[in-house]
Amino acid sequence: MDFTKLANIYEELENTASGNQIREILAEFFKEVPKDDIRIISYLTLGQIASDYQSVVLNLAEKMVLKSISIAGGADSSRVKRILKETGDAGLVAEKIMKTKPMTLVPVGKLTLDEAFKGLHKIAETSGAKSQDLKINTLAAMLQKCTGKSAKYLVRVALGTLRMGVAEMAVLDALAMAFTGDKQNKKILENAYNICPDVGIIAETLAKKGLKAIEKIEIHVGIPIRMMLGQRVKSLEEAQEKIPGKVTVEAKYDGERIQAHKDKEGKIHLFSRRLDNITDQFPDLVKYLLKAIPEKEFIVEGEVLAVDQDGKPQPFQVLMQRRRKHDIEEYVKKIPINFKVFDLLYLNGKPYLNEPYFKRSEKLEKILHKNKEVNPTERILTDDVNEIDEFFRKMLNSGYEGIFIKSRAEDSVYQAGVRGWNWIKWKKEYVQEMIDTLDLVIVGAFYGRGKRSGVYGALLCAVYNDKEDRFETFCKLGTGLTDEVLAELPKKLKKYELKKQPARLLFKKEMEADVWFSPNVVVEVFGAEVTKSPFHTAASGLALRFPRFLKFRDDKKAEQATTSEEVEKMV
Ligand code: ATP
Repeated sequence: MDFTKLANIYEELENTASGNQIREILAEFFKEVPKDDIRIISYLTLGQIASDYQSVVLNLAEKMVLKSISIAGGADSSRVKRILKETGDAGLVAEKIMKTKPMTLVPVGKLTLDEAFKGLHKIAETSGAKSQDLKINTLAAMLQKCTGKSAKYLVRVALGTLRMGVAEMAVLDALAMAFTGDKQNKKILENAYNICPDVGIIAETLAKKGLKAIEKIEIHVGIPIRMMLGQRVKSLEEAQEKIPGKVTVEAKYDGERIQAHKDKEGKIHLFSRRLDNITDQFPDLVKYLLKAIPEKEFIVEGEVLAVDQDGKPQPFQVLMQRRRKHDIEEYVKKIPINFKVFDLLYLNGKPYLNEPYFKRSEKLEKILHKNKEVNPTERILTDDVNEIDEFFRKMLNSGYEGIFIKSRAEDSVYQAGVRGWNWIKWKKEYVQEMIDTLDLVIVGAFYGRGKRSGVYGALLCAVYNDKEDRFETFCKLGTGLTDEVLAELPKKLKKYELKKQPARLLFKKEMEADVWFSPNVVVEVFGAEVTKSPFHTAASGLALRFPRFLKFRDDKKAEQATTSEEVEKMV
């Protein structure tokens, strides 16, 4: 297939604001393209060349891409730079240069979809000395085969700036429409996606083998399962109503959730809450796990937390220093960790997702050779609310965040990707009669005045409406932004800047921001109260009063932010 065909669709999608129309255009396109190309098209449409968990990075700086454009289009670098200054988008530079390339350049054929995909992977795989030049030349060779339009989109994919407002859920909708004729079947695709969150695999399986094969999709060791999440309640009594009878009450640690896989080859893969592969960050955890669970193949979940030299828990911010690409060994020594295991999802060929929690825990205890670094979460079994409260206070005294109350009933299965009522979280914030912290997505910013002139004065933050797959504004956040955070913000947000409002954002004209961002950066925010507001669109008109910035949540994707449904329950 010719890459231009894809570029034509991308142009159409870019100019379409309505989510429904976007899905229809995509569905029609899926119907007409060869089935062998569906997987690649699905990745590229999300602006990626693989799924997140595969951690494929192109490592292409804008400067390098500009060099490729100048080689491919026979344009000198000053002209390329000038056009970038005018347009602010390397994609538009590529379009302009390739459109006006000198006739003397020998035509080298048309870029196919396959060549584009393979070429981008080649760039990602190129490393070591001279890799910069090799990457530049590979991209230049692809661009030489491009028209203006295809050059524009190829460059945007290469730089990760393809922002058409299409996310995973829109692709799943479109796939359901294209191959089953009924959008309702998206639910089945979503269930499969929760177990195998790889849009490419889902798309290809559906296109080639049909819905039956999707219903039977299995766990793949090495591909993360979307994590199960916990609900909030307003009181411990309410928790008891939701999960009657005996429950498991566990410590809630202030660390990072990790899903650990061991494959048949004996290799450990570690995945974060946003399903990124973070194995390289925790070589110590890999070693500890191999020792603590000497089984052939498994998937377990737990919370990794930083501890001091005496084994005392340290806050999340300390652990975040382990989130790095360099000096890993130095930080392994500097910031030791513990892994608190709480779930078993798969063992030696047998999925455990559909087993009740007590069975999963029992099996986990049997296979776990606990030691100083890897041990089960502290827990009690009880049906007495006073005992739950006592355990909660004990956990706070131990420096933990609170507790998790987990159902032990027969139906307490692992609900992949679901925030269900089998797990309830109870945190110190609830007891101090303030509302929980929220994870909001930055979708816009307002320029500062006075002391804050030259930096952003406030951020427009949104919640995620997972039913409609869109973002809804919830507050203007100005408090809690230290000078350090204010200085970091433009750096963090620059690559997500948009010329117009994000396609998936619902907002009122009173909240027209000075700068818009595609929804990517998530911040944890503390608020006093959720109230009705005519200016915000969260859950049809709710806003957060007195929001205060707490921290960046780099471990979360935009779609993992607090949902409209959750804030509705806080009123
Ligand atoms: P969520 O992960 O529910 O979206 P969040 O990331 O904002 O929420 P919290 O609501 O503070 O964080 O807590 C939920 C997280 O607590 C879990 O995702 C997990 O990382 C962590 N956690 C700590 N201890 C446990 C435990 N015993 N069982 C399950 N999760 C735990």
